[in-house]
Amino acid sequence: MSTPPVTQPALHPVARLPDEWASALAAQGEKAFRAKQVFRWIHERGVFDTEQMTDLSKVLRQKLTDEGLSEPGSVELVHESSDGTRKVLLDMAHGAKIECVLIPMTPGSLDADVEAEADGDEQDELEDVPRKRVTLCISTQFGCAMGCVFCASGQAGLFRGLGAAEVVYQVLVARRYLRRDEDIKNLVFMGMGEPLHHYDETARALRLLTHPDARGMSPRRITVSTVGLVPGIRRLGEDFAGKIGLAVSLHAPDDETRNRIMPMNKKYPIAQLMRALTEYPLPPRRRITIEYTLIAGVNDSLEQADRLADLLRPLRVKVNLIPMNGIVASELHGPRAEQVVAFRERLLHQGYSCFVRTRRGDDVSAACGQLAMQAANPVRLGRKSTTTA
Ligand code: SAH
Repeated sequence: MSTPPVTQPALHPVARLPDEWASALAAQGEKAFRAKQVFRWIHERGVFDTEQMTDLSKVLRQKLTDEGLSEPGSVELVHESSDGTRKVLLDMAHGAKIECVLIPMTPGSLDADVEAEADGDEQDELEDVPRKRVTLCISTQFGCAMGCVFCASGQAGLFRGLGAAEVVYQVLVARRYLRRDEDIKNLVFMGMGEPLHHYDETARALRLLTHPDARGMSPRRITVSTVGLVPGIRRLGEDFAGKIGLAVSLHAPDDETRNRIMPMNKKYPIAQLMRALTEYPLPPRRRITIEYTLIAGVNDSLEQADRLADLLRPLRVKVNLIPMNGIVASELHGPRAEQVVAFRERLLHQGYSCFVRTRRGDDVSAACGQLAMQAANPVRLGRKSTTTA
């Protein structure tokens, strides 16, 4: 693998917002309305081949090709599991392998609770034929710099961050693998990487995805998941007025335990993180998602459940418990099923809404990020073939 830049050097045409297209095209003597046309071809219809942009002049189509408008990557393989989960493995520049995962929503699936909250959405009421809801999980980096000890990407380290074009590309490509009666209802930034580590690229991707001339995905249907990078949480809150859903990987109720499993906690300890969460400008009726990966003997005791309940009291949250999937790089493993149930009950009794994130697409490689990591280095980074979770 060649040594890649940490971020994309130049703005890929797919990462341009409509006003940026307008100035780029104006500089070439094109009319302003062309900007919207080009933007819609890419972001509404998922078309990158300028030959297909039939309402543009031949000259303009050639210019677009010449300046590098093309697919930011290519599909290497698509795996479908028996539960309908589809993993799309993408080959990107500089040897980066990333994946996005389409997950049909069932009760208990990834962020099924988002679905419940979004019910009664105006958009849905206008639909003639109700569509089956699918959650799409996307990646923001190839590898990850956060170093969480239970995570395959964290143990691999960061190879490179993805540009906004590459982040959005995952959504545009994944749509090709939807069935006719399905629709992407929720988009979660929970694949490989830390979305707030390359904040600018993530923010640009969010602007592109929510732009009305793209498909104008509602920000409340998008959830960004973070290890708890405090400055990034604050910027996300300010730049998007709290409308983007926020998920925080907490995984421990005290600094001592959290330091052991999440090195970033030393930089942004729990008290600082809690302050940033309290100040996140959450719209009425929305909640922050607290992710809690349960690791046997590390963070799964009922005392820890009680401490977690106390810690979260000042916040409006829902808790997602994720039994740890075993990884090759670590001896840690998930708790027995009874412990997961007991931990959940403890939180429920204290008034929290709490879901156990069921494992989906198991037969095609479990958690988000693991398929891509295996493709990059099958020996060191893959998941264990048997897990206790
Ligand atoms: N960096 C972001 C998003 C990527 S990870 C974050 O940390 O939130 C998405 C979720 O999967 C996180 O909650 C992460 O802690 C969890 N995760 C990572 N490896 C896991 C494993 N082996 N088993 C269970 N959950 C895992």
